[in-house]
Amino acid sequence: MSSDSVASYFSAMAKCDEGYLCEVCGLDVAEIVESDLYLRYVIGELDPEVLHTSPERHIRCNPTIAQFIVDPEFGAPVVVEGAFDKRLLDPAYVRERETLVTRGWRRLREVLNTEAAIINYPLPEVREAIQRKAGY
Ligand SMILES: [Zn+2]
Repeated sequence: MSSDSVASYFSAMAKCDEGYLCEVCGLDVAEIVESDLYLRYVIGELDPEVLHTSPERHIRCNPTIAQFIVDPEFGAPVVVEGAFDKRLLDPAYVRERETLVTRGWRRLREVLNTEAAIINYPLPEVREAIQRKAGY
């Protein structure tokens, strides 16, 4: 992808930055720290190209990822019932996942109060990967 097209989709995202409704509960996703899309974007699991076209959800409305946020600031831990319950998963995988997803969520809290451009939201290693892919 050219850096021109990168710039154009980031500006497209900025335009529709007014908040989306959660596809699970139907309520407004008012804050970036509640956004499942942005969480997955900062940890490198959502392509920036689809950030503004994917359905929005609250982080808590997507428990399979929310259960990996381990931070008292996040509030009560999310528990998943069923096959994706982290208590049933490999402990090493769970630790890795908790580290990544928790870092991602803390990153959202950081960018909430900064003027950082959306392209600079992701975690450093994710930012590098995106830039490599975009051919900067
Ligand atoms: Zn919701």
